[in-house]
Amino acid sequence: MKPQTHPTLPEFDYIKPESLAEASQFLALHPDEARPFLGGTDIFVRMRDGFLVPKFLVDVKHLDGTDAIRFDPLVGLTIGAAVNMNRVIASPEVQKYYPLLAEACRSVASYQLRTRATIAGNLCNASPAGDTIGACLVLDGKLQIHGTACPRLETLSEFFLGPGKTTLKPGDIVTAVSLPVPPGGSAGTYLKLGRNKLSDLSIVGVTVLGSPAPSLPSGFRFRIALSSVAPIPLIAAEAEAALAEQAITSGSIHAAACLASEASTPIDDVRGSARYRKQMVRNLTEMALNQVWQKLQRQDAGR
Ligand SMILES: Cc1cc2nc3c(=O)[nH]c(=O)nc-3n(C[C@H](O)[C@H](O)[C@H](O)COP(=O)(O)OP(=O)(O)OC[C@H]3O[C@@H](n4cnc5c(N)ncnc54)[C@H](O)[C@@H]3O)c2cc1C
Repeated sequence: MKPQTHPTLPEFDYIKPESLAEASQFLALHPDEARPFLGGTDIFVRMRDGFLVPKFLVDVKHLDGTDAIRFDPLVGLTIGAAVNMNRVIASPEVQKYYPLLAEACRSVASYQLRTRATIAGNLCNASPAGDTIGACLVLDGKLQIHGTACPRLETLSEFFLGPGKTTLKPGDIVTAVSLPVPPGGSAGTYLKLGRNKLSDLSIVGVTVLGSPAPSLPSGFRFRIALSSVAPIPLIAAEAEAALAEQAITSGSIHAAACLASEASTPIDDVRGSARYRKQMVRNLTEMALNQVWQKLQRQDAGR
């Protein structure tokens, strides 16, 4: 008999509903047996590895406009749940107004994987290592959700409850990710430390978005999100507050990076030890803040 190098997928029924309402009803009727899916790049791996054994997989792509990406200069960007990451990267509006999001998407695995993988799937999977989560958090993302009751909007910063756990209830389907127009003159970066350059989850990920904010004592507002260093993607609130309160210097940037490191609560795993991760949070946050600060100063000098 040939040895099996990989276990195979367990059997399941493929459900293709005609509408979001039908999909929600089906999911709500089978809370422990049915799951929605988009690109399938997380769920099929978890099924193959035996972590999930749903009886029904409900295909929620192509339902009621969830495969559209739209930009409105007053409202911002709406990315339909089924829009894959390569389409996000290729969008002229994303390149112009949300380059940080494009950078985060480009850090995910390979071009081939990104033709399937979606931002909504990355968020709903709720891995603390999800590469697009930091950008969506610092850009003040919201999720449009279709449930068995009325459609609702949920703030992303309140969405994550633990690894793989979110506020979604049976029957809930994320239909889009909404991002307001970023503050004028903003600049950002995403630094991902992985074991290799291709197709690996992050050991530590640091997302920084900075923008001029004349009402703050420092004159600038920095948003900082950390991945792979806590049970949920983390906003480094103390570090953000420190940078709002005092002039931006190499000293205040270093102090903020130390605060971000203190806020992280990483674990030891196959990709790195907790101690290493804490140190890398400090180093990468300092590096990311310096990069963004330089971009902001260059923009200021160019005006
Ligand atoms: C080889 C490989 C490399 C990878 N590399 C990376 C990487 O570098 N960085 C990274 O962040 N990720 C990586 N991933 C993980 C994965 O590709 C991403 O998390 C991706 O964004 C998931 O999107 P999807 O559309 O495929 O999600 P799916 O697998 O379809 O769904 C993911 C989860 O979300 C739920 N879900 C899906 N759609 C909805 C919905 N509309 N409403 C509510 N819940 C929903 C599903 O039930 C499932 O639990 C990798 C995966 C593979 C296989």
